[in-house]
Amino acid sequence: MSDNPYESRARDLAEGFATRAAHWDRTRTYPWPNVAEMVAAGLMGMTIPREYGGKGASCLDVVRAVEPVAQACTLSARILVEANMGGIGAIMAYGTEAQKCLCAPIVLAGDKPAICITEPEAGSAATEMTTTARRDGDRWLLNGTKHWITGGGISKLHLVFARLVEDGQDRGIGGFIIHRDPEAGLNPAGFEVVRREWTMGLCGMPEAELRFTDVVVPESMRIDADFADLMRAYNAQRVGAGMVALGVASGALDHATRYLRERKQFGRPLAEFQGLQWMLADMDTGVHAARLMLHEAAASVGDGGFPDRTLAARAKMFAAETALKVVNDALQMFGARGYGDTEPLERMYRDVRMFTIAGGTVQVLRTQVAAARLGIRAPQNREGYWQIKYAAGSD
Ligand SMILES: Cc1cc2nc3c(=O)[nH]c(=O)nc-3n(C[C@H](O)[C@H](O)[C@H](O)COP(=O)(O)OP(=O)(O)OC[C@H]3O[C@@H](n4cnc5c(N)ncnc54)[C@H](O)[C@@H]3O)c2cc1C
Repeated sequence: MSDNPYESRARDLAEGFATRAAHWDRTRTYPWPNVAEMVAAGLMGMTIPREYGGKGASCLDVVRAVEPVAQACTLSARILVEANMGGIGAIMAYGTEAQKCLCAPIVLAGDKPAICITEPEAGSAATEMTTTARRDGDRWLLNGTKHWITGGGISKLHLVFARLVEDGQDRGIGGFIIHRDPEAGLNPAGFEVVRREWTMGLCGMPEAELRFTDVVVPESMRIDADFADLMRAYNAQRVGAGMVALGVASGALDHATRYLRERKQFGRPLAEFQGLQWMLADMDTGVHAARLMLHEAAASVGDGGFPDRTLAARAKMFAAETALKVVNDALQMFGARGYGDTEPLERMYRDVRMFTIAGGTVQVLRTQVAAARLGIRAPQNREGYWQIKYAAGSD
């Protein structure tokens, strides 16, 4: 039993999620029934303040709830993170009253906002984005292409990053909320879901390429925050993503522990072979260390409302790499069974692979950690803006 109410509720859901996880993977479908259960349990949008209908839960509450969900179903855990951090975090921190009142109920009802930063020519170097928002009186016209957008095509809320152009001048990068819900007749002209990007893991989650052609966004849907502010909200998402990876790893560790006790070779349980015991000990230690780092980062939320940038980068990097190794080692302990589809290990391995890439690669996170330790600025792209601000910023 957990003393955290969100974690307890998540544990209650996890058993059902585990039985259905293979289905979403094989059919590449979004787990709407799981979303409905997370809505009913008050987990979707739980970080939204009470005055907007949420629970005012903390970043640490979210990571505590994410671990049992991720042990059962990576896909659902990822949705849980993105319905509490990232896009909705930025909107609740920097949005206007009207924006918060619009977005909070949508998320509480089960939406997972999509964050649209990455472009074909702007990945790690996010500030090289070329999507523009041209001011036209009290509205903006968005033009450009984003890709690898998680939830693109199914999310109702999109937080789109674009270069603000006013009177022909580049005013830096800003963010816009686009509300799209074709079933409700909300289909902004010029907003096109170009294609779904197929993935090796997390197969039920649509990743999409989106194209914006003169999409009209009113000034009232621009978030009054600069790029640095918007990216600060991303620190929470990083901690959450790290926790999803860690949850998958702790789930794999449990499966491996059980199997070492059950499976016999050479007349003895595998658990009696020291070579495997030492592997298990390293897996256990990695999971424990990553969990401590993630909890530390989640608890570091300061006045700005988001976790410390360096703690978040370090924890996500360590958790993503640890999880990959732990799940790989767990699969190894199962032998051929781990490679086949009667056990969840092969799915967990495919699922966990993305966490060293998405949301800041482990190389880029290392750059941040090193810059903080060295106290240096580390401009790495044409403008140097993102790296300067984030390598040297105080939070
Ligand atoms: C499953 C998935 C979901 C995603 N979801 C979203 C989303 O919802 N929204 C969104 O905006 N984006 C999303 N992304 C995109 C993700 O953020 C980018 O993939 C990531 O930032 C890296 O960009 P890139 O893939 O273009 O790689 P690149 O930037 O081209 O990097 C290629 C390689 O070079 C390395 N590299 C690059 N620069 C440096 C450097 N300075 N020093 C050392 N090594 C470096 C990288 O670490 C990487 O190994 C998602 C990606 C995936 C895989």
